[in-house]
Amino acid sequence: MISKSPMRPKKSNSDGGEQILPPPGLLDSPEDVLLYYQKLGVSVDPSVDIVAMIDKNEELDLVYVDLGSKDAYIKKIDNGRFEIGVNKRHHPNRQKFSLAHEYAHYVKHRNQIEEMPIGEQILNRDGDRNSIESQANRFASELLMPEKLVANAFREAAGNLKGMANILGVSKEALSYRLENLGYRMK
Ligand SMILES: [Zn+2]
Repeated sequence: MISKSPMRPKKSNSDGGEQILPPPGLLDSPEDVLLYYQKLGVSVDPSVDIVAMIDKNEELDLVYVDLGSKDAYIKKIDNGRFEIGVNKRHHPNRQKFSLAHEYAHYVKHRNQIEEMPIGEQILNRDGDRNSIESQANRFASELLMPEKLVANAFREAAGNLKGMANILGVSKEALSYRLENLGYRMK
């Protein structure tokens, strides 16, 4: 006699199923991007490790080069693959914003990357607010400085700009830009 046992799906973990992650290039909100890399073990608190994000992304190659007066670039190297270059002479905190800006082009403007110049100056230029450059700056600042992290850093550093920038691992310029967006006021 064969005894009958109830059919039960095998559970692979306590959630009851395997989880599938989308290709990272599909995620184009800073919140989704952060959640994605958090699942891959990237540190996103108290500062966001953009270098580790790019390292974990198989569609992106990161190179450090001397770019003179330019901050960074992104260029297409293959179908669906891109190279991000950042100025090796810049401070790591400044590099982080440059990298986040190029990451924004990767998710939001990937079809325009081929027309972009190799090497650009970031943040310190004017332009209309709807240009892809302003979009990329906004995305970069939301990615590196989520509102909650900014509030935590604000408390921790007692409102000191340099202290906050150190905690968040960004330049004072990038932080000022974000603070203005969030409604903080400079004394
Ligand atoms: Zn740009």
